[in-house]
Formats: sequence, structure tokens, C-alpha cells
Amino acid sequence: MKNLYNLSLEEMEDFFLEHGSKKFHALQLFQWLYEKRIHSYSQITNIKQELLDSLASVYSLTPLKIVDVQKDVDVCKYLFELVDGEHIEAVLMRHDYGNSVCVSSQVGCNMGCRFCESGRRKKVRNLETYEMVLQILMIEEELGERISHVVVMGIGEPFDNYDNLIRFFQIINHPKGFAIGSRHITVSTCGIVPKILEFSDFPLQVNLAISLHAPNNEIRNQIMPINRVYPIEEVMKALNVYFQKTNRRITFEYILLKDTNDSSSCAQELADLIRGMNCYVNLIPYNETNNISFKRTNTVQIMRFYDILKKNNVSVTIRREFGGKISAACGQLRSKKEEL
Ligand code: SAH
Repeated sequence: MKNLYNLSLEEMEDFFLEHGSKKFHALQLFQWLYEKRIHSYSQITNIKQELLDSLASVYSLTPLKIVDVQKDVDVCKYLFELVDGEHIEAVLMRHDYGNSVCVSSQVGCNMGCRFCESGRRKKVRNLETYEMVLQILMIEEELGERISHVVVMGIGEPFDNYDNLIRFFQIINHPKGFAIGSRHITVSTCGIVPKILEFSDFPLQVNLAISLHAPNNEIRNQIMPINRVYPIEEVMKALNVYFQKTNRRITFEYILLKDTNDSSSCAQELADLIRGMNCYVNLIPYNETNNISFKRTNTVQIMRFYDILKKNNVSVTIRREFGGKISAACGQLRSKKEEL
């Protein structure tokens, strides 16, 4: 059976039109789902029963199962079970500017980044749109507070699940859906060039982050196999197209891995690589995991790296760390659960 949370407003309109009814019901249905937060068709009072019956015969309202929650002061991690028994995770982070949720986009991941826990398990399947929507809906419900920001940086490569991702953005951005402003939504990719180009034409102003993690192909090839398919210069070319079309600032994520990509000369090379681009760099202290041997760069070297970028007039921040204690880094909770 299909899930109602999978449908964009336009798809709901099509449903009503196909059933000889009016498309304004779609907006009503959207409001029932996302403003009033119903759990059953029987709560809907302004749509005819026979239409509701037809809807219910095709689309369920089945939620995901929250099977584990780990709480810390400003971070909360949710492990979800999907209908086929697979597990994914989402992380809620409390910032002074609001609540942000980091959502997963796939079960497993095929990108194989050497430092990443999620990629230790190959992709099993893409998440359906409803499985992304419900991560947010259910966390809001559990929390009793609004989610104001969404980042697609959980398990999976979002640009390897492009169509479902785009529908997800349309639903959460819609004023009668979650009404999360596009500028409050960020998608992070390891650099799938054709999808960066496609994304340049996407009308919503969703932020784009690139997991760069190295200033040259030699290092990037070692830690991110995708670089052999789309090397740095191809990624940069695609980003220039993206920038020309959207005029939007790009974020580069850069995990600092001890003795791998954290030298002062790497910092200088990075500054040279992105000179003149409208971008900023987010330095990420590596979150060590038991299964992977990469180590975190020490604070002194992180600051040295930061200073070199600053001196080169690069806008740079060091990512605030959340959830170290509760293994909130990408893929860690699910790994524990499944003892991968
Ligand atoms: N596939 C996408 C999104 C998921 S990963 C991408 O590559 O961008 C989200 C971010 O977390 C990426 O920048 C990833 O490189 C980073 N990451 C993965 N494992 C990490 C760890 N152990 N510590 C810190 N950051 C990590």
C-alpha cells in the first residue's frame, strides 16, 4: 500500500480530479496532515466519505516506528524502523535560532567515503518521500515544538535519490505543508556533478553544501571514491554553473582528519582552490568511531588551519559539535543497533 505522506499537493490535486471531484480538496487534505496533524481519515470533516474511502483504499497514514531515542542537553537522536524492518536515524539539534533536524535520505549509502560510518553498509534502497517527511513530522510531534530548519545530512547521498528528495522539499516548503522556508533547508552532497547541474535549475532556494574534505584530487581520491568519477575540477565547474544560475552562496564542508588533510599546506591549497568563489567553509572536527581508524585533528591544528583560511579572506566557521556522547555522528546509532 502507498503512503499519503508521499504526495505533493499537485499529486493530491490529480487524485481528486481523477475521482471526479474538485482540486481544492487537496489543500484541505494538506492542512489536515500538516497543520492539524491528524492520524486517521476519520478525523477529516470537510471531505466526502466516499472520497475518503477511495483515498484510504490506496494510501495509508501509517507512521514510522520510533524504536530508540537518545537525549542530551541540546541534541536528541531518533532511531526509526521502516515498514520493511530497516532502520534509519535523524538527529534534532537545538540552536539559539531554532530547532534543526538532520534527516536521512537512504538506507545505507554507496558512496564509500572512508571516514564515514554510514557508508560501511551499502545502499539497501532509497527512502521514499514519505519516509523523509515523517522523520520531521514525528520528531515535531514527539517534541511538541516546531522544527524551523532541515538539513539533509543523515545517512545516504541525497543526490543519489534526487526525485524523492525534490518532492520532499516541495512538501516541507509548501506554505500549507510544514512551511519551512527554503533558506532554512540545506542539502549536502559528496559531489554528484550531473545532479548539482540539475539542482541549479530547481526553483526553490534551498542551500547547497558540498562535502569537499580535501584540497586536491590526490587526497580526495584516497578518502572519497566518488572523486574518481567526479574529480574536484568537475565539481568546481558545476558549482560555477550553479552559482551563475542561482546566485546563492555555497557551503564547503571539510572534515579535519589527523595527518590526512589537516596540514597547513592543505589549508593554503584549499584557500587557493576556492579563491574568489561566493562560499564559506565549515570545518568539521572529526567524530571518531570505533570501526574506523581515522583520528581527529587536535584543537591547536584545527585553529592553525582556521587561521590560514581567515588570513586568505575565506569565510570560515568551525562546526559546533553535537551529540558526541550519544554517538550522534552519521550512522553511529544505527550501526550500534544492528551491530554492523
Ligand atoms: N552524502 C552526503 C550527506 C551525508 S554525510 C554528503 O556526503 O554530504 C553528512 C556530512 O557528515 C558529510 O559532510 C560527511 O562527510 C560528514 N561526516 C561523515 N562521517 C563523519 C564523522 N565521523 N565525523 C564528522 N563528520 C562526518
